Formats: sequence, structure tokens, C-alpha cells
Amino acid sequence: MAAGRAGELGAPVLLLEKTDGCGKKILLSGKTRCNLTNTAPLSEFIAAYGPNGRFLHGAFSRFFRDELIALLARYGVAVKTERGGRVFPASDAARDVVHALERFARENKAVIQTTTRALTIETSPSPHSQSAIRVAAVRTDRATLPAAAVILAAGGASYPSTGSTGDGYEMARALGHTIVPLRAALVPLVVEETARAKAMQGVSLRNVRLTAFQCRADQIEPDRVPLYDCGRGIAGRKARPPVLESRFGEMMMTHFGIGGPITLQMSLAIVDALERGPVSVAIDLKPALSREQLRRRLQRDFDRHGRRTFRNILKDLLPAKMGEPFVELCGIASDKPANQISADERDRLAALLKSLRFNIRGPLPLTAAIVTAGGVALSEVDPCTMESRRVGGLYFCGEVLDLDADTGGFNLQAAFSTGYVAGESAARATQTNPRRSTAS
Ligand SMILES: Cc1cc2nc3c(=O)[nH]c(=O)nc-3n(C[C@H](O)[C@H](O)[C@H](O)COP(=O)(O)OP(=O)(O)OC[C@H]3O[C@@H](n4cnc5c(N)ncnc54)[C@H](O)[C@@H]3O)c2cc1C
Repeated sequence: MAAGRAGELGAPVLLLEKTDGCGKKILLSGKTRCNLTNTAPLSEFIAAYGPNGRFLHGAFSRFFRDELIALLARYGVAVKTERGGRVFPASDAARDVVHALERFARENKAVIQTTTRALTIETSPSPHSQSAIRVAAVRTDRATLPAAAVILAAGGASYPSTGSTGDGYEMARALGHTIVPLRAALVPLVVEETARAKAMQGVSLRNVRLTAFQCRADQIEPDRVPLYDCGRGIAGRKARPPVLESRFGEMMMTHFGIGGPITLQMSLAIVDALERGPVSVAIDLKPALSREQLRRRLQRDFDRHGRRTFRNILKDLLPAKMGEPFVELCGIASDKPANQISADERDRLAALLKSLRFNIRGPLPLTAAIVTAGGVALSEVDPCTMESRRVGGLYFCGEVLDLDADTGGFNLQAAFSTGYVAGESAARATQTNPRRSTAS
């Protein structure tokens, strides 16, 4: 995007790409369908990035969703909108987006040089600009290339097979930029109770509520019936720990823990909270019913089907793979007839259905995160031009910046918008300083 826009304005552009092809992460995005933006109103859109979203007002006012969709249409890519305002190519093919961007760059005479790794950005003293230094060249694994402007678009540090291995952070740091500590965002979580998670592996839970709690050490009791439910503390028991975040939707059980949309969306808050102390989560498998309603419903079922075994009762309440772990957690014999289940046992089952607890060990590694949180500190970048406030002629865009958002197409829109603006600003800089410009 940056190379295409800079070329469109007449700048001579060289795009350096480390791998053998551009846009490998886009090819993976949206399960290879590329959720490229979202139809949310601007205020909601900005809110999806958390407090740092304010930085994007400048870029979005210059190039936002409509401009992106129009640009893709120019290259033959129509789009469609799905649940949650998610916008995809109508073809469901992420490669169409990559091809469109490559054509945008090539038609505007950007030269794309693949299998070339940028190593460092060289600077020289800058007598005329406000910064003390300005870019002079890019050193690659093949040559040193003079440059009037450099756009650092090297992405984050996750999914390294796509080429984004964190090089951008190192190049920016070497030039004096502050790098806000990197963390995994939109990442599956590993639980302490791995055997129980493994037993439930592959279960997809729809219409559930996931709540994360910041706990004290004495509130962590692995493999025990929960001390609290999702709604409020259980009378006579310890007070419920503070809620970090709670979301309704879809999640997955995996062999190591939990994944799926609502887990990913809550993961950064959980990762940050783990720095402060233990975190546990509770899955409310019956969020449409209060605990009291659930108790009454269970009692009705037990009365109506008195001779059915507990194992068979669970089949109506839960996905099959969750039956065995529930038998174990409830401590009720699986062949016990329903009409012999005591009130205490029924209440235990209701509590578990409302609050299936896991203690969080941590996220999967940063390399497995959909997005890298942290990055080049936004206070050191001009939000109207994407130019560095420390190095003249240096521009940033995309995930290398300290920006990350929910799933829904927000991360790509931020990369496209900041890329467009960086390309435009860099082109203008080369027009006043007509040497070769380099987009990396
Ligand atoms: C599995 C997955 C699914 C995703 N799905 C979505 C989605 O549906 N919607 C959404 O909005 N976001 C999604 N994202 C996030 C989104 O893809 C990224 O935020 C976005 O691609 C960031 O764009 P970028 O241009 O900053 O970085 P990248 O897309 O990572 O591109 C950086 C490029 O720079 C190159 N590079 C790196 N270092 C060097 C170097 N030293 N020299 C030369 N080249 C270098 C890399 O090879 C790479 O091609 C997904 C991410 C993943 C991992």
C-alpha cells in the first residue's frame, strides 16, 4: 500500500521484501479469506484499538474503509460484509487482495525486490530538518542503497514464517526509537488443568460467556468445584475476585487450553493481568439461565427422567466430550439414576455449568499470536504523516507501530491506512529531496 501510493505520486520506489513473495500474512488472514476491514462506525472502529486508537484519527481521515474498498474495486476485487460488520473479498480469496496491492504497486512503477532483507537504516546529520539526523541509505544483505526516505513496514514478531520476525523493532530501536514491550495479543491461552482441557479438545462452544478474574493466590484451587460463579459470589463462600473482562460468544477447547474468538479478544487483558498475579477464567455454559433457573430446570429433568443415569442426563446438557470431565468434577457416579441425585449434587452441577473454571498458565508464545502488541512508541511518530519525530525521512506503518486491535478487520485497516499515509508523506519528502526513496 505504501509503495503503491508513493509511486502513484511519482516517487521512484524500491520495495524490499525479505521472503520470496509479498503479503504472506495477508494470505493467511481471516482463515485465508482476509477480513480486510469492518463496517463499524468510526467511534467504535477507533475504540477497537483501545486507548492508542486515537493515534489513527489522522490516517483514517485521509484513507479509510471507503477509500480502501474503492481502491480494491479498481483492481477488480469486490467485497461483501458478514456478521459483525466484517468485510471480506467477495471471492473469499485473500490472494485477490495481495494481487490487487501488487498491481497497485507495479502499475505505479514501484520495483519489488524479493528475497532481500533490510538490515539497518543508515543516517547522516540533518542540518535543515528539525531532527538531528535523517535517513541516508538502507543496508541490505546484498547492498547499501541510498534513500531520501524510508518506510519501515516490517510488521510484528508473530507468525515468523510469513517474514515478520521483529526486524522492524530492532531497526527502529537502533535509531533511538522507544519500543513499547512486545506482548502476544489475540493469542490462545494455556491452562493449568491441561488434562481436563485435553479431554475436551476440539469442543466448540457457542453462545457461552467467558469471564476472566484477577485472583489472589488463595483463590486458585485447581481441580476443585468453583468458589464463585460468573454472576456473584456464592453465599458463605469467599468473595468473588475482581472481573478483568467478560465476553459472550464463541470459543474453543484445545489440547493445551482455550482458543476461539472470545478467548483471543480477551487474551491481551489476561496476558497483561498475569504480570500482576494469577488469573482464572470461568465459562458460563448456560448464560441464558440464572443459577436458580438452572437448578429448577435440572430438578425438573431429574424428576421427569428419574431412571436415566447421570451420564445420560449430561448428554442433553453438554457436548459429548465434556461429559467425562463433568462426571469427575461433580463427583457424582456416572451410573447414578437421576432420582437419586441429592440437592447438594444438583447444586454442584448447576454451579459447574454456570462456572467451569480454569487457571491460566499463560499465552502461547508471541510467535503464535495473531498480532504483536507493543512496538514503536506512538508519541515518537507524527500521526498526520507517519514520520518519525527522531529521524528525518523515516516513516512507519502497520504492526511495527504500538497498535493492535480486536479481531474483525481492524488490524489490516490500520496497516492499510497508515501505509497509504506513509507512502504519501514519503513521496512528498522525495519530491523536495529527489533521491531514490525506499519502502521496506
Ligand atoms: C493467522 C493470522 C490471521 C490474521 N487475520 C486477520 C484478519 O482477518 N483481519 C485483520 O485485520 N488482521 C488479521 N491479522 C493481522 C494482520 O494480518 C496484520 O496485522 C497485518 O498483516 C500487519 O501488516 P504489516 O504490513 O504491518 O505487516 P506484515 O503483514 O507482517 O508484513 C511485513 C512484511 O515485511 C517483511 N519484512 C520483515 N522484515 C523485513 C526485513 N528485514 N527486510 C525486508 N522485508 C522484511 C515481511 O516478510 C512481510 O512481508 C491476522 C494475522 C495472522 C497471523
